Amino acid sequence: MHEYSLAQALLSGLQEHLRQHPIPGRVAKVHVRKGELLSLSEWALKEAWRILTEGTELSGSELVLESVPVRVRCPSCGYEGEARYLTEEGWHIAVPVLSCPRCRGPVEITEGRDLAIVGLSIEERL
Ligand SMILES: [Zn+2]
Repeated sequence: MHEYSLAQALLSGLQEHLRQHPIPGRVAKVHVRKGELLSLSEWALKEAWRILTEGTELSGSELVLESVPVRVRCPSCGYEGEARYLTEEGWHIAVPVLSCPRCRGPVEITEGRDLAIVGLSIEERL
């Protein structure tokens, strides 16, 4: 399952981080940025997280997902920013069109297709 390996990657990255930067308490929430181009089931990801963290120091922590828009960079004219969106009549979602809004050249995706941990909420140990 795709979500399972994503959760596994998040977990091992976070455990490595916590080994190097120990925190005085328990992680209550893990804030994760999800790129718009990354399709996944939020439910399945949270479920995988719950299973994988069982028995670890992150057991009981909750994933909080925040969606981020696609950002691109144009190698020909130097444009950097959000991708151009094409919304067609009858479509219920905006489809990111991956061409440069300035010169219409091909662009590189700089953000929007991965998962990244952006913060932790810590419960202090009393
Ligand atoms: Zn351009």
